[in-house]
Amino acid sequence: MTERFRQLSPSEFFYRNREIAGFSNPARAVYQTIRELVENSLDATEMHGILPEIKLEISEDVEGRVRICVEDNGVGITPVEVPNVFGRVFYGSKYVLRQSRGIFGLGIKMAVLYAQLTTGQPVKVRTSTRRSKFIYEYELMINVEKNMPVVKRLSVMRNDSKWHGTRVELVIRGSWSQARKRVEEYIRRTAIIAPYATLVVSAPDLNLKFERTSTELPPAPLTGKPHPRGVDVEMLKRMIEEVGKNKALLEFLVENFDGVGEVTARKFCEWSGFDCETRIKNLKVEDIEILAAKMQEYDGWRRPKASTLSPLGEELLVKGVKGVLNPEFVTAVSRPPSSYAGHPFVVEVALAYGGSIPSLEEPLLYRFANRIPLLYDEGVDVSTKVLQRIDWKTYRVEFPAPLAIVTHVCSTKVPFKGVGKEAVADVPEVESEIEAGIRECARRLRAHLSRLERLFEAKRWEVTVSKYAGEVASSLSYVAGVDREVLHSKLLELVRTRVAVGENGGRRRAR
Ligand code: ADP
Ligand code: MG
Repeated sequence: MTERFRQLSPSEFFYRNREIAGFSNPARAVYQTIRELVENSLDATEMHGILPEIKLEISEDVEGRVRICVEDNGVGITPVEVPNVFGRVFYGSKYVLRQSRGIFGLGIKMAVLYAQLTTGQPVKVRTSTRRSKFIYEYELMINVEKNMPVVKRLSVMRNDSKWHGTRVELVIRGSWSQARKRVEEYIRRTAIIAPYATLVVSAPDLNLKFERTSTELPPAPLTGKPHPRGVDVEMLKRMIEEVGKNKALLEFLVENFDGVGEVTARKFCEWSGFDCETRIKNLKVEDIEILAAKMQEYDGWRRPKASTLSPLGEELLVKGVKGVLNPEFVTAVSRPPSSYAGHPFVVEVALAYGGSIPSLEEPLLYRFANRIPLLYDEGVDVSTKVLQRIDWKTYRVEFPAPLAIVTHVCSTKVPFKGVGKEAVADVPEVESEIEAGIRECARRLRAHLSRLERLFEAKRWEVTVSKYAGEVASSLSYVAGVDREVLHSKLLELVRTRVAVGENGGRRRAR
């Protein structure tokens, strides 16, 4: 018997393999759907300079159908793009070199497919772009075989209130009761990493409101060029085709890659044995293969620029942590930009201690990548690995202790371990930056704890000495013939001055 062959469309591939995108069971599907919607909403606001206002509404019927609705005040989606954006796998606006939560052009389609698969319900989208006179309301589904959207209904309304943003509603089969705790944690962590966002949740047994604690947005990332070290043969081939004109290799390198000036390009050509006047159109596949390998290997390139990234910054991170974890002590470190395999990245770490943080046998870890909270797969994440080798006794922390660590990796290409985006791989460069960040925070904590200890000691000394000051004053007054009251108050003053000096000294050292 002969085999029958046919092609699988991208929609059908993900329809069949939804686990790899995080839709593996009824609880996880609810969590993943919410995540995809909230992340798109955050990207659609903060990347365009809008302070996010995000409303999440969830309800559940007796049949086990969960209705999930997320509304934002973002830039909205132009009506011609709506069908493709929601109904075509691998369609999006984030395939550029710039930090964003979304990367694959896949997330929302997975949620739409999951709804279609489990309840047969279309996705409902209401959207309006800034200054648009109309609001568009769509109901659409995905033709899985063709990977094409199917519009079921479209209505247009006047936008008298000048509303802009997007509201997406999906009905999936799932388990809200099992997902609730995770969703709560996800929103709480989103509030840590986005202190400039207002997040409102209304759901069965869960009503949350996180008001923004800052009206300052971190600078939006700029779109960048690829770094020469990050190329491969296919990419080079495509770039050469796209350039169109018959350029010289030197020009091609200078114009199309990050941080390559004429001097660097010449040096590279010399080193790699390529003639910098070679017309790129004449390069054969074998030449392109060698060129790509040489570009990856050459270590004279400048570091990739970090302007494509948007770290939160120490001040905002401290605000986020304070607002949600309510600790007694908090500090944050934003490490200088670094890179791995041609991809720029920045690591940020915060440490919080005491206050409302529970005392546990090990530090609480809050992981983030490109401002996405990572909740699953903590055991295989690079931050867990680094944390395990920190000896906290060195930093005066004895467990059980109320200690929380926040790690944030920003990159144009976060080395995630899967398309579900739940764990960061242990790339050595990233690993050592995380370690440096944690150790810096830990040193600041040690200084703080030492200061507290000194204060405590001084107070204890004050109490003890003050207790005997009366007796000492009486004896001294008898021996020296000086008035007892004068001596007593002088002694107490001496004690207080010493304690105050201790306090000030401590304050200078602690950060
Ligand atoms: P990704 O986020 O990885 O790009 P998605 O499938 O989640 O992929 O979204 C596809 C595209 O739809 C996004 O790139 C964005 O342009 C657009 N989009 C999705 N949700 C929104 C929203 N709430 N507001 C504005 N644009 C959105
Ligand atoms: Mg997305």
